[in-house]
Amino acid sequence: MFFFSPHKDIVGHALACADEPVQARHSILTDGTEVTLLDCGVIRIEPNTASQLSLVISCGVHGNETAPIEIVSQLVSDLLSGEVSSAVRVLFILANPWAMAEDRRFVDLNMNRLFCGQWQYEDLSLKEVKRAARLEAYVANFFAEEPVTVEQRLHYDCHTAIRASARERFAVYPFVPGRVLPEHQQALLTRADIETVMLQQEPANTFSSFTSVKQDAQSFTLELGKVMPFGANDLSRFSGIDLLLRALISDEELPNTPAGGMEQFVVHHTLEKSSENWTFHVPDDAPNFSECTPGSLIAEDGGVQYLVGAEPEYIVFPNPRVKVGERAGLMLRKLSK
Ligand SMILES: [Zn+2]
Repeated sequence: MFFFSPHKDIVGHALACADEPVQARHSILTDGTEVTLLDCGVIRIEPNTASQLSLVISCGVHGNETAPIEIVSQLVSDLLSGEVSSAVRVLFILANPWAMAEDRRFVDLNMNRLFCGQWQYEDLSLKEVKRAARLEAYVANFFAEEPVTVEQRLHYDCHTAIRASARERFAVYPFVPGRVLPEHQQALLTRADIETVMLQQEPANTFSSFTSVKQDAQSFTLELGKVMPFGANDLSRFSGIDLLLRALISDEELPNTPAGGMEQFVVHHTLEKSSENWTFHVPDDAPNFSECTPGSLIAEDGGVQYLVGAEPEYIVFPNPRVKVGERAGLMLRKLSK
């Protein structure tokens, strides 16, 4: 494809050019769509029709989470070749090309803890810190430049998990005081075969928190399946998100109410590694959303225990190997419908 020449696609270009100063490239497709490469792995699509949606699609915040990167790269190629035509504004982001190149989650710092301005308090000489700052600026500009026709801002930050999950796919909805998850957004998620959502109860420094809190977008961190190396993904397991993104981009009619039920979970308790004596009673290979029965002992430190309360709780992101003072997992409760 000429746009990324001599590289095959946006991934090839991003992997090869992560350390080069990128000259902004601009092109107009035959249908009048404007395409601008803003930076390595950052491309903006502006249709020449009145767009009602500003859509940010990001992936590769964790470099080894390759399936969403492959899906996004193919989608960008299809847009550039004219196979797919965009009716809405889209900003595609391959967030961490250095970690992608090394097939690692991150190089120096977990990028998904650097947003909402957190990067300002980190070592500004680190690539991932500089990149988080630039990504915030690209997204802010993308929204600031939207035409008056735009009615909705939407951001999907696409991930895969290291750990197995009792629920293969789930969304995380960032905390914004007083906000509830709209039915329409649930309908879109179920279109992507995502039937589980975790509602955060406190502010975070994730990419999706940044777009929710600072940019007034409906945004989600999507956990779409398992981590695999480039080329080893069974992309058929990711067809739901691919269909949803293509439907949104083509402005296809999408349902307003979820077809199936969506199960919502809230964070009930944050497990923190309180000292070196802290012990964790959940098996190392426990999948995300494992159900813990009432009264189960989850963690203890000296005389302090965390026991599951009167109703079942579900553990996500368990990781006893964090540093003292850091989060070692979340205990969720299911919201009754
Ligand atoms: Zn991730």
